[in-house]
Formats: sequence, C-alpha cells, structure tokens
Amino acid sequence: QHEHVLMDATGVRRALTRIAHEILEKNKGFENCMLIGVRTRGIYLANRIAELILDIENVPAPVREIDVTHYRDDRSGRPEKKFKLQAESAESPMDIHNKKLILFDDVLYTGRTVRAAMDALMDLGRPQIIQLAVLVDRGHRELPIRPDYVGKNIPTSRMESIEVQLNEVDGVDQVVITQQ
Ligand code: 5GP
Ligand code: MG
Repeated sequence: QHEHVLMDATGVRRALTRIAHEILEKNKGFENCMLIGVRTRGIYLANRIAELILDIENVPAPVREIDVTHYRDDRSGRPEKKFKLQAESAESPMDIHNKKLILFDDVLYTGRTVRAAMDALMDLGRPQIIQLAVLVDRGHRELPIRPDYVGKNIPTSRMESIEVQLNEVDGVDQVVITQQ
C-alpha cells in the first residue's frame, strides 16, 4: 500500500484561506449566509472557514451541521428519509428560508452525498441559493454536481482513496492519497 502526501498543513491552511476570500468575494460579504458542514470533517472545515471570515471581515458566520448518512440513495434497501440536522446551539433552530447556504464536505466523489444533503436541506425550507465547497474534488461524478469552491482538484482512479486528516480529530492537517 503506497501513501503520498498531496497537501501538508500549510497547503490546507492556504486553501482554506483562499476559499474564505472566494466566499466573501462571490457573495459580496457574508450577509444572509450560513455555513453547513456535512457530518464529521465537513463540520470542522466549516468551523475553520467561520473563524477565517471573522478574521477577515469581522463578521460572525453561523455554522450548522448536517448528517446525511441515512439519506443516500445507494445504500442497502430503500432510501430512508431520515437525517439529522443539528444546530450549533440547541436554542437556535436552523432557519434556512431565503438564506445563502454554503455546504461543506471534505471530499467530493460521485456527488451522491451532496445530492442527499441538498434534499435534506430543501425539506427544511427554501434557501435562496446553495453553494458547495470541498477540500478535495477527486472526480468520478455520477450526478450533475460541481463545487463552487475547491481546495484541490485531485484526479484519482477508483482504486485510490483520499485520506483527509484534520487537527481536530487526527492531530494533523494533511491530505494523503493511498493506493490499495
Ligand atoms: P460521494 O457521495 O460524492 O460519492 O462521496 C463523498 C462523501 O464520501 C463525502 O462525505 C466524503 O467524506 C466521502 N468520500 C468519498 N470518497 C472519499 C475519499 O476518497 N476519501 C475520503 N476521506 N472521503 C471520501
Ligand atoms: Mg464524509
């Protein structure tokens, strides 16, 4: 099994800093915007972007979590319409009506997770727009989905897999490609 580091801590930091600037540029600030992190690592990425946006523009960026593990269409059996949406604090329910949502995930592959996340969000209300940010786009899309913000495009074979390690859970920031 071969391993190769594609992004080190500095690379991850620079990519996230660029994405924070791109989000602010594209949305002309952060008014009416909300960051939505997909299950584990997408949430850490969204939180970091929120910190960067606070540093750059001195505005607070609300972050919410979404867990779409049970919402995907290609898991065994019929798709369950079950997902978990969590507000950062229990008292602030997620009101996405007319909001600009920026969805965060660590790796974009077939696009099925993002589709499931969009379904889950749309069940809650009608956002003004949904944008997509990923740290790694590894290709192999099976749906017409493309990211608005990309840390790094990494063309992969299906035999390869990308490991995204983040300080919060892995004690290190890096992106590694492994070939089985
Ligand atoms: P998709 O639904 O686009 O096929 O896959 C994206 C989801 O699966 C993301 O939530 C991502 O975390 C995970 N994923 C897919 N491929 C990889 C990969 O190579 N590495 C990592 N770390 N996650 C992946
Ligand atoms: Mg994931």
